[in-house]
Amino acid sequence: MRVGNTSLRLVSDGEYRLDGAGLFGLMPKTEWQQLAEPDEQNRIRIQLHCLLIETAAQTILVDTGYGDKLSAQERDLMCLQGDGRLLGSLAASGVAPEEIDVVINTHLHGDHCGGNTRLNERGELVPTFPNALYYVQRLELAEAMFPNERTRGTYHRENIEPVERSGQLRVLWGDTRLVDEVRVMITPGHTAAHQSVVVESGGETAVFLADTAHWPLHMERLEVLTAYDAQPLVTLETKRRLARWAIEHKALLIFNHHPDGMAGYLYPTDRPDRFRLEPVAL
Ligand SMILES: [Zn+2]
Repeated sequence: MRVGNTSLRLVSDGEYRLDGAGLFGLMPKTEWQQLAEPDEQNRIRIQLHCLLIETAAQTILVDTGYGDKLSAQERDLMCLQGDGRLLGSLAASGVAPEEIDVVINTHLHGDHCGGNTRLNERGELVPTFPNALYYVQRLELAEAMFPNERTRGTYHRENIEPVERSGQLRVLWGDTRLVDEVRVMITPGHTAAHQSVVVESGGETAVFLADTAHWPLHMERLEVLTAYDAQPLVTLETKRRLARWAIEHKALLIFNHHPDGMAGYLYPTDRPDRFRLEPVAL
């Protein structure tokens, strides 16, 4: 994908399986199983897409997937699989870990920042991208470092602390322009300080939504919310605001968790709470 003078590419950290009721929240199974066929354990396929943004000056990676620190048992449990995972996908795009200048974590759930760090040959935890600055929101960092009973299963210090120790962590206070063509915008709800990444170049706009809308369906129907959102009704209002903004700015919406990799433009319908996504070929 090209947006003005920037190049955008989805890079996969693999695929896993997630409980259907988690992804579709209050939507009855009779309805969601027509959209996604569950396996015998009621799970559906979920992609771990990260976004590679190449501007004239910088190579930027948005989110880092689950990474390689999970045990074989943990990987088996969620059917996590993929050829070479994130580093293999980056290599296939001709990008070495040393070439990443900026890592942006939309939030710090395990499936979005697990690849921030890795175990080196001596078994030490080190940043996976040795020359990158890693940008995270201050409030998200606080939530991750001091999780509560509901969030502690997905927040892991080993994804962050090595980055802080190496001096590569940069903490953001809200909406921030990081480079000329790329800025982050707080899109709260999935987590209190979840951020989406906006690319603006040559009069064109794209936004990597991350978990504000896992699948296009979550954007097309405002009331469809995952069971994972920390503040579901805040997500609802974020999506309402985002939908208006996306239509007004003709922004390309990029989705991270759909198994086929999805992006498209949003259009209004005759109902204020429904939208229609016109997909574009990736
Ligand atoms: Zn996620």
